[in-house]
Amino acid sequence: MTGSMEKSFRRIRRSYTLLSFISLIFFFLLTFILINGAFLFFILYSISSKIDNQYELIKHTSAFYDATFMEADSAILDELMLDYPDYFVLDKDGNVVTKHGEDTCSYRGGPLFTLFGNRDYLVYEDTEDKNLFYSGMGMFLPNLASIQHKAIRVLSGVEPDLVDVDSLEEDEDAKILDMPVWIEMRLSDGHRLLQKAYVQVHVTDLIVLVSIAGALNVLVVLLMLVRIVRVIRGFIMKKRLTELFLVDEVTRGNNWMAFLLKGNRLLKKRKSAGKRYAMVHFVIVKYRNYCMCHSLEEGQILLYRMAEQIRQNLSPRTELSAHVSSSSFALLLEAPNDEFAKGRIQNLLWKLKNVDISSGSAKLSEDTETSHTFNFQAGVQIIEPNIVDGKLKKRKDAEIEKYYNNAVTAKSTLEVTEDDGIAFFDKKLMEDEQWINTVEENQKKALDNEEFVVYYQPKYSPDKGELIGAEALIRWQSPEYGFIPPGRFIPVFEKNGFITNIDHYMLRHVAEDQKKWLDLGLKCVPVSVNVSRAHFAEDDLADQILNMVDAAGTPHDLIEIELTESAFFDDKNAIIETIDRLKAYGFSVSMDDFGSGYSSLNSLKDMNLDVLKLDADFFRGNADPERKEAVVSEAIRLAKRLKMRTVAEGVEDKDQVEFLKDQGCDMIQGYYFAKPMPKDEYVERMKEIYHMPGSEETKGETH
Ligand code: C2E
Ligand code: CA
Ligand code: CA
Repeated sequence: MTGSMEKSFRRIRRSYTLLSFISLIFFFLLTFILINGAFLFFILYSISSKIDNQYELIKHTSAFYDATFMEADSAILDELMLDYPDYFVLDKDGNVVTKHGEDTCSYRGGPLFTLFGNRDYLVYEDTEDKNLFYSGMGMFLPNLASIQHKAIRVLSGVEPDLVDVDSLEEDEDAKILDMPVWIEMRLSDGHRLLQKAYVQVHVTDLIVLVSIAGALNVLVVLLMLVRIVRVIRGFIMKKRLTELFLVDEVTRGNNWMAFLLKGNRLLKKRKSAGKRYAMVHFVIVKYRNYCMCHSLEEGQILLYRMAEQIRQNLSPRTELSAHVSSSSFALLLEAPNDEFAKGRIQNLLWKLKNVDISSGSAKLSEDTETSHTFNFQAGVQIIEPNIVDGKLKKRKDAEIEKYYNNAVTAKSTLEVTEDDGIAFFDKKLMEDEQWINTVEENQKKALDNEEFVVYYQPKYSPDKGELIGAEALIRWQSPEYGFIPPGRFIPVFEKNGFITNIDHYMLRHVAEDQKKWLDLGLKCVPVSVNVSRAHFAEDDLADQILNMVDAAGTPHDLIEIELTESAFFDDKNAIIETIDRLKAYGFSVSMDDFGSGYSSLNSLKDMNLDVLKLDADFFRGNADPERKEAVVSEAIRLAKRLKMRTVAEGVEDKDQVEFLKDQGCDMIQGYYFAKPMPKDEYVERMKEIYHMPGSEETKGETH
């Protein structure tokens, strides 16, 4: 997974948490409270200010009362107050001292308004007209209905079937509402005056207020619904994405991404800083074969069972596993020491070896083989405790990917043929990795600057010790790294594909050299050029070679093409065709490294090769010399029967030469006669052809 994908996934994971949901609800509740609180406050404030106005009127009554009371004549007061509404005066003990009109005040039940209680008056409800007061307040209701009515009309375009609220608005009387209240005031002699007053409420004002508040409420509800729907969809998406990103399709366990995320979290924990871990990469050997013999589905069942078995064997909180791809798995294990790590891995792999692939799988057919022994190759990178300046420190960067790559590199050092193996990543491997990077960084520049040099290793006839051929071998003269032998860079190029450029480069140089020497009048012998296996993917290879040699103007019989034995395992028909074409163009073709491990005598029968190059391995090793000789002589006999010439490679001593001569080997290429040498020296060797060199003296100055 790329870095940017990982980032966006992390962002999605961080959003849509329960906390975000709760804070959303909290935000909307707060908005509700604020809107309606402000609205309520405004209503109460305006009612209270209307009561304030009424209070001014009551002050008159009190003034009259004070004035007339001094006269001690309540009759005067009555007369004066004729046009005033109902009122009465209570003494300190609550007895009615004076009364005008009807007493319908509910002062015994406590005041209606205590909200502004620190004022010098109190407000009581009117028992008789109490319903009027509440219906005044209740003006909200028809107006809410009106708002609802309008909202439905606007949102859906449908005329709702509601009560006819418009009639209310048309009623003139309904536009101003007199709400009766009783207001109490303290008089100068300590008595209490209670007087009925009417608070006038404008219905239109109320309608506007309620409409605004209602609209705001509806808006908030709508917004909340939209947000909630979005959050719910977000939760669903997050769940799906998590599954997509973190769950392996086949094993239903962690995939690589989950391993990265969880591994990072695990290693960065404070508790993990002092722990030693083993990062393990392992593959099931010949998993493809298993799938081919059975079915892909059964292969997947196998992976599922293995992942299950692995999970059961790990500590769930402190260790991790993941199915990475096809047949490879990743593990992060606690490993106090290497031995322990090795033991655990061996133990785990041993359990996986005979994993039960039958149980619980209804899909397996009856005749399916249910017991199968698997082999594994594992690479391990140890992650040391994080000690900085002698102190344990929390890991800042867990570098899971790097560790895993190292484990993969360690695994890749195991031989393909090795069935069960565990390899640890060490310093040497790290240096190798660095070297590979160096080579790759420099390859293009080196080719452009002609830093690659052609060396020639002569091939001699065993009988007369006569120069009868040569092999072109590459050397790298790097201005930065000095002289680099091919074993240090050819395998890198073979892996990264750059080898095809090298093959072209060598062929071009050899063809040009041969042409130049020919023109100088030297007696040229065929020179073989190595063509890498990677090159065989190109179906016009023979024509590419032809064009290059022709471009230099070199006779075709002076060029031989060496194909490495292992290439013969690839697309056989394509190789046969390439060989036939090369031969038709007049080049000779040889099989390199015959006997080095991939021998297929069978391929010899189909391929019309000219030369068989016996690998140096035939002459090395501790095997019984008699047996070695038996194999070599049979190989030569076989080649002869197939009308192929033979070259013995890596021949280093006289006895070998004698033996090969007796067996009828055609050519000897080895340190005994000459090591690979620079062009100038090789030219000297060519010049010797005229002098027919002796065998012993020709052992060359070597490289
Ligand atoms: P190879 O093609 O089998 O080349 C023969 C190797 O054996 C050469 O190693 C040569 O120096 C070495 N050798 C020859 N006689 C003796 C001997 O008597 N004793 C010992 N110990 N070694 C001997 P070199 O040059 O280091 O090349 C190694 C391999 O690198 C070659 O094996 C070939 O696979 C690859 N290589 C070299 N040059 C090229 C090239 O131009 N193109 C490609 N594709 N591969 C190349
Ligand atoms: Ca070769
Ligand atoms: Ca060889």
